[in-house]
Amino acid sequence: MAFESLSERLQNALKMFRGNGKLTEEDLKAPMREVRMALLEADVNFKVVKDFVAKVKERAVGEAIGEGLNPHQQIIKIVNEELIELLGGTQSKLTVAPKPPTVIMLVGLQGAGKTTTAGKLANYLKRKHKKPLLVAGDVYRPAAITQLQVLGEQLNVPVFTLGDKVSPVEIAQKAMEKAHSLACDTVIIDTAGRLHINEELMEELRNIKGAVHPQEILLVVDAMTGQDAVTVAESFDKELGIDGLIVTKLDGDARGGAVLSVKAVTGKPVKLIGLGEKLDALEPFHPDRMASRILG
Ligand code: GDP
Repeated sequence: MAFESLSERLQNALKMFRGNGKLTEEDLKAPMREVRMALLEADVNFKVVKDFVAKVKERAVGEAIGEGLNPHQQIIKIVNEELIELLGGTQSKLTVAPKPPTVIMLVGLQGAGKTTTAGKLANYLKRKHKKPLLVAGDVYRPAAITQLQVLGEQLNVPVFTLGDKVSPVEIAQKAMEKAHSLACDTVIIDTAGRLHINEELMEELRNIKGAVHPQEILLVVDAMTGQDAVTVAESFDKELGIDGLIVTKLDGDARGGAVLSVKAVTGKPVKLIGLGEKLDALEPFHPDRMASRILG
């Protein structure tokens, strides 16, 4: 599971706090050095780590120890609160269009888990009594269309495709008509990825965005790629504008840096997380639950 090593190191660092009195800067030095190292080793962005440590230190020295708490419990309370803040504060829910259908466009690099996530998202929404339509907009990877059709069949969710000879913009537009005729309330558009970000990809995504005005443009990133995921998020946000992220493969041994850095670096929240290859392995992201999991 992701975060294992960070979790262990952070817990050990926090055990270093002893004593009963008010926390001094001297008390904080060694343990906070450990916290800093733990975060850096988890591949958290350097500046994010610096700000995080500074904030925790400032609060720990400045704040009166809470009633009934010892300094050890006090520092855990502060680190927990700051971790929640770092992870985005409160849960960021998916935006729903005032008038259906809600359009969700999934973007990201090849292999991040877009097509699988499209299926998982359809399943997630179906369980919430929504009626999704999956749209095969990745016309460059021939297997992507079939992959989506297979997922749709498994889920009993309609899949709209016009094959791979039609432009994704036209597919997206026609999909909206299909959604109306099938009375679908959510349209999930799978888009093409590339191995690297390039202008052609961004142009195509901007054109789809312009044609169907999605409520949510969600960037799918692979947790295993660490800081690269954050760099990718910055580029997509600058070039296209994103509303949030879906971080996949958190069931693996990702160090967690992407999840911990992305909100602070890009200002965009993680909305959902992928925890496996199966269709039910998608969950809403709760910053408070993730922080508790990290702190044990
Ligand atoms: P795309 O190129 O972005 O559409 O990526 P795919 O949806 O084809 O996914 C690439 C690989 O990642 C596939 O083998 C998926 O089964 C796998 N994958 C996607 N999400 C997850 C996840 O949350 N956990 C794990 N372990 N594998 C995932």
